Amino acid sequence: MAHIIVPEAEAILEKEYPVLDHGFVRLVDYMGSDARIVQAARVSYGEGTKSVRDDKALIDYLLRNDHNSPFEQVVFTFHVKMPIFVARQWVRHRTARMNEISGRYSLMKDEVYVPAEDQVHFQSDSNKQARDENRPAPPIVAEKIRATMHETTTAIFDHYKEMIDAGIAREIARINLPLSLYTEIYWQMDLHNLFHFLALRLDGHAQLEIRKYGEVIGQIVKAVCPFAWESFERHRLNGCRLSSDEILAVKNLLAGEPAGLTKRRDGEFRAKLGLEKEK
Ligand SMILES: Cc1cc2nc3c(=O)[nH]c(=O)nc-3n(C[C@H](O)[C@H](O)[C@H](O)COP(=O)(O)OP(=O)(O)OC[C@H]3O[C@@H](n4cnc5c(N)ncnc54)[C@H](O)[C@@H]3O)c2cc1C
Repeated sequence: MAHIIVPEAEAILEKEYPVLDHGFVRLVDYMGSDARIVQAARVSYGEGTKSVRDDKALIDYLLRNDHNSPFEQVVFTFHVKMPIFVARQWVRHRTARMNEISGRYSLMKDEVYVPAEDQVHFQSDSNKQARDENRPAPPIVAEKIRATMHETTTAIFDHYKEMIDAGIAREIARINLPLSLYTEIYWQMDLHNLFHFLALRLDGHAQLEIRKYGEVIGQIVKAVCPFAWESFERHRLNGCRLSSDEILAVKNLLAGEPAGLTKRRDGEFRAKLGLEKEK
């Protein structure tokens, strides 16, 4: 099986999936699919062709046992448009190959992200890094904040254009542009590392804005590699890792005893397993 064509992937190639107010994700290209994972694994295991059911079981076995290299044989190239503050989180994933639009060569477009009214929230007390998902700002406050964001970014852009019109270098004029400005990247990653990216960026601890991109990328991965996606969802995305004291806590609870963890660890443990808080 040389070049693998997945009809579901062909159907969405180049399709622009909108994300946030001006962003998008496009699948530019893909190489391989579930079939390539199986092929690569069978080279190492030396097995012949098997049924579709066996293929699915093999992929599930590989994923749940961290036999990662066959997943590296599948590669995706995306074109993503996202605010710079999202891109700064995105580029921490070092195993990608990428190119970004250059503000030294190109005039930057007057496109900035402004959170929707229902996404302007108060600071979380329990998570220093995040908004409190349950405490949206009152609509009147949210609207005022959005209006101020529009005003300040408009003023910044007016100044940017003034500098450009005065012949100032683009690399100087762009220095003052905001983190909310949209940027564009071509981003290529193999499936093993993409699953790592998605596990981190679809997690509730990741910022909502990058999670929105993760959700779209997840749907694209599902179209290209449905079996691998199903196993990823089961074992990684909706599964969890337990430390030795957490395993002991499970055993304690099954024996009808207190979990035996500190208050903080107990909260994390129960959140992980979706258990109610201890009364
Ligand atoms: C919710 C959340 C909050 C975060 N908050 C912060 C923050 O406050 N400040 C901050 O600075 N960062 C923060 N990060 C970024 C985080 O620390 C990681 O840099 C990011 O998630 C990328 O993870 P990674 O290094 O595992 O992935 P990748 O860079 O994609 O690497 C994948 C894997 O490859 C291996 N690898 C890659 N490069 C190397 C290398 N050079 N040496 C050895 N192994 C390598 C590692 O096993 C790694 O896990 C946050 C991330 C998340 C998801």
